[in-house]
Amino acid sequence: MHDIVIKNGHIITSDGVFIADLAIDGETIAAMGLDLKGRRVIDASECYVLPGGVDPHVHLQMALAGRVSTDSFESGTVAAACGGTTTVIDFVEPKPGQSMLEALAQRQEEADGHVAIDYGLHMSIPTWHAAADERLAEVPASVDAGCATFKMYQAYDGMILDDVSLLRAMQAVGASGGRVVLHSETGPVLDLLRAQALEDGHIEPIWHERTRPARLEATAVHRASELAYQAECPLYVFHVGCTESVAEVVAAKVRDVEIHAETCPQYLLLTAHDHLDGPDGQLYVCAPPLRDHDDQDALWQALADGDLDVVSTDHCPWTRAEKDQPDFTQIPGGVPSIEARLSLVHHFGVNEGRLTPERWVEVCATNPARLMGLTRKGVLAPGYDADVVIFDPLRAKTISTDTLHEAADWTPYEGLTVEGWPRTVLSRGRVIVENERFMGALGEGRFVPRALES
Ligand code: MN
Repeated sequence: MHDIVIKNGHIITSDGVFIADLAIDGETIAAMGLDLKGRRVIDASECYVLPGGVDPHVHLQMALAGRVSTDSFESGTVAAACGGTTTVIDFVEPKPGQSMLEALAQRQEEADGHVAIDYGLHMSIPTWHAAADERLAEVPASVDAGCATFKMYQAYDGMILDDVSLLRAMQAVGASGGRVVLHSETGPVLDLLRAQALEDGHIEPIWHERTRPARLEATAVHRASELAYQAECPLYVFHVGCTESVAEVVAAKVRDVEIHAETCPQYLLLTAHDHLDGPDGQLYVCAPPLRDHDDQDALWQALADGDLDVVSTDHCPWTRAEKDQPDFTQIPGGVPSIEARLSLVHHFGVNEGRLTPERWVEVCATNPARLMGLTRKGVLAPGYDADVVIFDPLRAKTISTDTLHEAADWTPYEGLTVEGWPRTVLSRGRVIVENERFMGALGEGRFVPRALES
């Protein structure tokens, strides 16, 4: 007799789809098979049963230039849970002079007691750290503390690493068995283009895209790939949004670079022409910027083919008021989608015939768990954490700020009806969403130390 048995669902894993029962004991998946018996039975007939979503790129209550991103650890993780995501990975951003482990402890303190689901943290290596031997010497301790992935930037003042600094940091990370997760854009050149556009009197949000050309995004991916190769450091490129960058990722693989990459719903579903150049263009400013329909076709194809590995959100919401700025260079970057990710990729991927159900699960759960070292997540098999989503593929849901649990006063997907939504969600064997209602508790999620496969 098991604690919980989920009966008669179509179990979807990266290996296939089959009808079976899934049994849970305590926090762990105990068995999958037929006629399993449980003290509590959850009927999943006509539903999919999949591993809880893993979103490896979120910014909850992130401080930026005197503002804080709109979703707290509370609202953001409740929203994630309601959308079928049971693990998120956020960021540690050490301040100048602060050690990585101090910054990690501080960020954990902000999250612990507040999160509804499990979380991990990437360790950021900003500009000042690359210059300091003592900081890079802390990389092994960060890996030991469960932060084996290191965020680096090829853009933004205070964050940007030039190629020499990037190489040194990659060498340190590679030698410690870590992985670099990278914001790849040719920052200094974009800074010039942005300043020139402003001088010419261009203030509209579309200039955000026009001053961040796709070709310069791709050259950054190219440079980073070769530096990673030189450093013998695995590289994961964040938020790939254009055809040119996909091509560089594919070409790097041919050159034996250990490279993986993600894209996000905004790049798959929104365009510069329709959104940045639309009536509320300022809302859609994010970096890299939205591109075009051709790019979206390339991204979907790359997801299907395995050239891209993951769909994350880069969830970083700001309110309408915060997004309302005098010119495009002052708009805080980022859009929300932490809650709708799984359903958006199902609706536009699986329902539209672009992705198989297995591939959907792979890019939303299995791959991000494996690449980020979440060794007990992203898979439905005995011994793994009982993070499980019961997903009703026929549930028609209209996305709206009225029904989302996200805190921002807008969503790019307002009024959009998707077919397929999570009905019930379990986190380590606890039912935290039941019939689309959050039933969990803040503080029940915990920090998950991550260890990469060697
Ligand atoms: Mn980000």
